[in-house]
Amino acid sequence: MKQIIENLKITKILDIIEEDIKNRYDLKNITVKFKNTLCGYAHYKTRKITIPIWAIQEGKYFATYYLIHELCHFILHDKKGFNGGHTRRFKNKEIEILKYYGLIPIYNRVYVKELRDLNNNILYVEEK
Ligand SMILES: [Zn+2]
Repeated sequence: MKQIIENLKITKILDIIEEDIKNRYDLKNITVKFKNTLCGYAHYKTRKITIPIWAIQEGKYFATYYLIHELCHFILHDKKGFNGGHTRRFKNKEIEILKYYGLIPIYNRVYVKELRDLNNNILYVEEK
C-alpha cells in the first residue's frame, strides 16, 4: 500500500514536469505511459513515451531523470530532425533540462549512475 501511494505521488510529479517541458519546448501530441516493462522508450512515429514501473520505484529523482531523458529525444527530434542516439548534443540538452529542475547527473556511459542536487548532495545512487 505504501509503495502504491509513493508511486502515485511520483507519477503526479512526472505529470507536472511533463506538462512543463512540453510547454517550454513546444512539444506536441506526446503521450507518456507507465508500463511494467524492462526498457522505456521514445517512439517518434506514434509519439509515445514509455516509462517502466521499475524506474518509478527508484524514487522521484531517478523517475524525473528518466522522463527527462525520453522527452529530450523528442526535443532534439522535433527541433533538429535528429533521429535518436545519445550524442554529445543530446547529453548537453539533457544536462541543461535536469539542471533546470535542480538535478546534476553523474553519467555511467549513456545513463546516470548518480543524481545530485545543486549543492552536490547525493539524491540517487544506482544500486549494483
Ligand atoms: Zn535514450
